[in-house]
Amino acid sequence: MSNHPLALFGGNRAVVSEPGDLFAWPIVTEEDEAAVLDVLRKRAMSGTDITKQFEQDYRAWLGTTYTLGANNGTSALHAALFGVGVGAGDEVICPSITYWASCTSVYSLGATVVFADIDPVTLCIDPKDIERCISEKTKAIVVVHYFGYPADMDEIMAIARKHGIKVVEDVSHAHGGLYKGRALGAIGDVSGMSLMSGKALAIGEAGMLATNDREIYERALAFGHYERYNGVIHTESLQPYAGLPLGGYKHRMHQMSAAMGRVQLRHYDERNAEIGRAMNYFWDLLEGVPGLAAHRPRPDSGSAMGGWYAAHGHYKPEELGGLSVTRFTEAVRAEGVADCQPGCNMPLHKHPLFQEADVYGHGKPTRIANASRDVRTLDADLPVSVGIARRVYSIPWFKHFRKDQIEQYANAFRKAAENYEALLVDDPGDPPVLGGWSMFSRK
Ligand SMILES: *Cc1c(COP(=O)(O)O)cnc(C)c1O
Repeated sequence: MSNHPLALFGGNRAVVSEPGDLFAWPIVTEEDEAAVLDVLRKRAMSGTDITKQFEQDYRAWLGTTYTLGANNGTSALHAALFGVGVGAGDEVICPSITYWASCTSVYSLGATVVFADIDPVTLCIDPKDIERCISEKTKAIVVVHYFGYPADMDEIMAIARKHGIKVVEDVSHAHGGLYKGRALGAIGDVSGMSLMSGKALAIGEAGMLATNDREIYERALAFGHYERYNGVIHTESLQPYAGLPLGGYKHRMHQMSAAMGRVQLRHYDERNAEIGRAMNYFWDLLEGVPGLAAHRPRPDSGSAMGGWYAAHGHYKPEELGGLSVTRFTEAVRAEGVADCQPGCNMPLHKHPLFQEADVYGHGKPTRIANASRDVRTLDADLPVSVGIARRVYSIPWFKHFRKDQIEQYANAFRKAAENYEALLVDDPGDPPVLGGWSMFSRK
């Protein structure tokens, strides 16, 4: 197969069968439909009874003491950051390679962000770069389990404990993932995750916060859930203000999402396991192909990808005569893999919102409006983040373990890599900017 001429040059495409529902997600059955219709018929869209049941299911699944539903993942993370006490003048460390919602809400808390570099193998925050970013103003570290890969939590937690800093896990890419046998989202001080339709656990616009710390939970609740901020609050400092949301935000989850969430969660482990079988099979087929490497933890590590959201692969142009990832992915797409794109999220520190934007009229960039030092990041501090787009590409996100179809997709990647010399001839190289600010705007 791999020696056939590339489809880009008129050869036969590696992917010949129609995908069918190979990529369709989430899987929606009559069970989801009945649950959602029930909310509609009861006119219970804005209630909280079903959301509270969903929170209870989620706690049991994740193994944390507290969970709090939200209208989206951005709100859950915003509340998590408030929950750990991020406030005026504080600094929050976050990887530059992530979706903006991991950290952008810190501005509205009067805080700022200090960007850390990522590890070139895990693509998650590099523990070795965290201490460079710490100052006496550092309040929290946001850890993103990027593209489903469990970040190095042991090292991160050790650094955080040493410096008295809180850890916020952003699990929006990694539902059901494991770090050394422990559930992602139950390791840091608090976690927040998106449950929007494009994610692995997909229930519409919704988010979830999880923690074992009652005060963090209560602060998050007080921030954006006025009707649940009442007499049951134990935290004394919060008691006088019950009844109105401290943040001025309303984070209530739509109960059609909550109802669908209860159904989706019941099936999630099984469906996630099938995704894992399919994705691991894809990578097993490509083991040893020059230029390509899997983005997944070692099978003997006790760690496992969660959901494989927006799965990507490593690219090593030096093993393919310097072939650009732009040209490589063009050849893979021609083989019939529509969603093989170069790059990933663009480094957040390069966006003008994190350089000069004066959002709130401070008369200076919001990034440094309340900061005691200029935390704006230089490319030289983040070499991996700045260069990573040329070394990654998206791969198909299989939802079913169908060997012969997966083999066709893997062959497309193998063919492009093994015929790299033919592709070098007209390689335009990579453009100055690759990837996008979000995975959705890119498509
Ligand atoms: C999707 C996402 C979010 C935000 O979640 P929404 O539900 O879209 O608000 C936060 N962090 C990461 C890493 C994400 O991918």
